[in-house]
Amino acid sequence: MEDTIAAISTPIGEGGIAIVRVSGARAFAVADALFNSRQGPPSQFASHTIHFGTIGSNGETADQVMLSVMRAPRTYTAEDVVEINCHGGLLPAKKILSLCLQHGARLAEPGEFTKRAFLNGRMDLIQAEAVMDLIHARTERAQSAAIHALQGHLSTKVNEARDRLVTILAHIEAHLDFPDEDIAPNTREKLLHDLQSAMDFLKSILATASEGQILRAGVSLAIVGRPNVGKSSVMNALLGQERSIVTPIPGTTRDTIEELANIRGIPVRLSDTAGIRNARGAVEKLGVGRSRNTLQHSDLALHIFDYSRPFSDADRELANLCDSRRTITVCNKVDLPRRIKLPRELESDTTVEVSALTGTGIEELKDRIETLVWNGCGGSMHLGVAINERHADALRRSINSLTEVVDQMKANSSLEVLAQQLRAGLDAVGEIVGKTATDDILEKIFSTFCIGK
Ligand code: GDP
Repeated sequence: MEDTIAAISTPIGEGGIAIVRVSGARAFAVADALFNSRQGPPSQFASHTIHFGTIGSNGETADQVMLSVMRAPRTYTAEDVVEINCHGGLLPAKKILSLCLQHGARLAEPGEFTKRAFLNGRMDLIQAEAVMDLIHARTERAQSAAIHALQGHLSTKVNEARDRLVTILAHIEAHLDFPDEDIAPNTREKLLHDLQSAMDFLKSILATASEGQILRAGVSLAIVGRPNVGKSSVMNALLGQERSIVTPIPGTTRDTIEELANIRGIPVRLSDTAGIRNARGAVEKLGVGRSRNTLQHSDLALHIFDYSRPFSDADRELANLCDSRRTITVCNKVDLPRRIKLPRELESDTTVEVSALTGTGIEELKDRIETLVWNGCGGSMHLGVAINERHADALRRSINSLTEVVDQMKANSSLEVLAQQLRAGLDAVGEIVGKTATDDILEKIFSTFCIGK
């Protein structure tokens, strides 16, 4: 019999309620030993009902709680589950957890509830990972991709790809059973065609990797410009609230400030670089050096110019550091009279004119950032799914094996060899949903979960 596990499923800290979750064959026995109410023992309660009472043992009461009872298999883990809603704050939940552990449960490992849900067939591996993505989602767009995956949209696509490969493999294996009969040329053609189309499908799923990466990890955006052009002000305008300190004295933003903005659903890590100070020497070098460093570590950049001041050597110096394919030229302070004339190579129709002070052009700037971010993604968004690095790695391995199969088919290699390669490709796809996942893979995935999930 599997152990019965217990953990505090709510975050550590003070709050309205905390929840201790217990799952496994002994969950109701644990609850019976601890729960006191006029309604009798929890093991007698109807499934999916919640009851008021106290938790305690040996005449000592730990807390007043609401206890819910959920019978297998219609539960998160597909096992018997008891959830004890106690008062928030660390002590009541800790005390209740420790009583559960004394009465037959053991402490759950990180992600163990979700791992059980997976092992008991309640969800596949993609859905289990989506639970974590949902918890970590920082924008609505990331949340929506996670919910899609949790609801099985990505799994459906992967399973469809897998089914196609299974059909092809079945064909080849059928011929293996009759070694005397060679595959007819037109059957070979058909298999080749099906294989290629299955590979195209896998590639289209793989193409969503960068979108997935962006939604999970976000992109980094460096804000560069000489002192006083309004870097901090533009950053605050993008964040939508006052964050970094804005002052009229040049060079006050000495250190790089990082903030997370939600721009059109994309988590964007903004870093406001140190401006170059007007003073010559060490400090100036430091400023350029820091800007260069930040630019090197950022996916994208905004180069900010002051609309109301002439173009200067410092502007030029920073422009030389920026990679034009990843940089948006921004002229700030358009509420003031124009005194800047950008050199021709910087002046383009992609220059955005804004005023951080009045808000003019900020929405357009957000649009431009969004376009620049998704431009790098190869337009894969229509699939409505966004895979992670593990999925991408498995897909790449699968596509490699299948490319090999295609080559060997064309070279009329033996069917045994074909079947073996095809099986490797199939296994790699199976890993994604967890059909062929090894213990190592499971360990790696679930160890990144929080305890109690
Ligand atoms: P940074 O040194 O580049 O970070 O520049 P700040 O954001 O600290 O801004 C420098 C000065 O310019 C401050 O006095 C801001 O109030 C002012 N400023 C920033 N943006 C605008 C703008 O769009 N219009 C006007 N008129 N002033 C601005």
